[in-house]
Amino acid sequence: LFITLEGGEGVGKSTQMRLLAARLEARGLEVVATREPGGSPKAEAIREAILSGRTKFLGPMAEALLFSAARIDHLDSLIRPALARGAWVICDRFSDSTTAYQGATGEPEPAVLRALERVVVGGDRPDLTLILDLPPEVGLARADVRRRQRGEVTDRFEGEAPAFHRDLRARFLAIAAAEPDRCVVIDADAPVETVGDRIWKAVDERLLS
Ligand code: C5P
Repeated sequence: LFITLEGGEGVGKSTQMRLLAARLEARGLEVVATREPGGSPKAEAIREAILSGRTKFLGPMAEALLFSAARIDHLDSLIRPALARGAWVICDRFSDSTTAYQGATGEPEPAVLRALERVVVGGDRPDLTLILDLPPEVGLARADVRRRQRGEVTDRFEGEAPAFHRDLRARFLAIAAAEPDRCVVIDADAPVETVGDRIWKAVDERLLS
């Protein structure tokens, strides 16, 4: 089965992915935990190029094609083989991040993004998408602390205006509202363990019971 974790900056996706993977593994399941952009060596190289800003001169359409190229490699080299052998795949960000982030920047237009998703992802859409929801001020403060601890530089989108992050949040919530069979909104404004329990309840109800 294929689970994706989505949401804005600093909502806690990577921490929660580790907790969820451990809980599934404790059940004896094989878990492949991965992330986007990236997830395979070639896709990680593309991630680095885009997020550093080095590909910005190409423009939004070409960058969307680079994200697509990364996703194709990630799906072909890691996700599809894992699903085929019966493993559970958990991915920190996937197509909904494209819809939300590139949607929030306004380019390429949504119809182009939808067409790319059809071509790139095809039938391999997630069985369950957990949308971690948090007021942007809380998430950005968390992301800022994390970055300073790791000595990282601000990435392209964390530096955007508060209005951008509010728009992003609304876009993730709109995705969840449009596809309630696939998506569950998780209130992520709580301690790590509480959010972990909320996620486990959703996974248990939707995929295990
Ligand atoms: O999940 P993480 O914070 O590592 O994501 C890396 C960054 O990639 C995000 O902060 C976001 O700015 C960017 N991103 C993007 N378009 C996507 C997915 C992620 O611009 N489709």
